[in-house]
Amino acid sequence: MDFLQGLSGPGGSDFFSLDLSDSDDMASGNGKAGTTSDKDKLHPEVVKNLELHQGFMRQAIDVAEEALKGGETPVACVLVHEGKVVARGMNDTNRSLNGTRHAEFLAITQFLSKMPASKLKETDLYVTVEPCIMCASALRQYGIRCVYFGCGNDRFGGNGSVLPVHYDKGLEEGYPSYGGLFRKEAIMLLRRFYIQENENAPNPRAKGNRELKPVV
Ligand SMILES: [Zn+2]
Repeated sequence: MDFLQGLSGPGGSDFFSLDLSDSDDMASGNGKAGTTSDKDKLHPEVVKNLELHQGFMRQAIDVAEEALKGGETPVACVLVHEGKVVARGMNDTNRSLNGTRHAEFLAITQFLSKMPASKLKETDLYVTVEPCIMCASALRQYGIRCVYFGCGNDRFGGNGSVLPVHYDKGLEEGYPSYGGLFRKEAIMLLRRFYIQENENAPNPRAKGNRELKPVV
């Protein structure tokens, strides 16, 4: 299944599959410089409390910056309970060579080290990239209250891009999921990572021109 084929070796550094040679993000966008795509439109629910949501997503973006500095795919998240960040996670697949070490799993592990699982039902997740199918399913099983993400993931996204794991038919109740918060920042982090990775590769992959596109 494509879900696994997307992993480039055990580390799965290609997991988020950003094709830098085209379009404007993980998704196929119009890619036109200076335009604002529909993906930048935020849901009215998010707009209602925009500053609050931006504040938490900013923290997730900051953690993703740390991941980038450490050579990890820059995807990160925070878990927010009663208005406070109670856990953080960043992607750890490259260092650990374990393709399940996604930011969400690390954050959930940190959360569970200090709070009971039942509290996840009162907790929101802010993650820089749409949760993959695996994470979307775990979040649902834990009953996460709501998910806010930055950019979509057209190859592996489990909150609507590939499969709507967050609300399709299932045993557990689904959860609302809103994309677009700091979408461009999330994409730029991934672009910087893939360019860096390409430059460091002993046999750079032929994937076209990987110059950094400043406009997303
Ligand atoms: Zn995941």
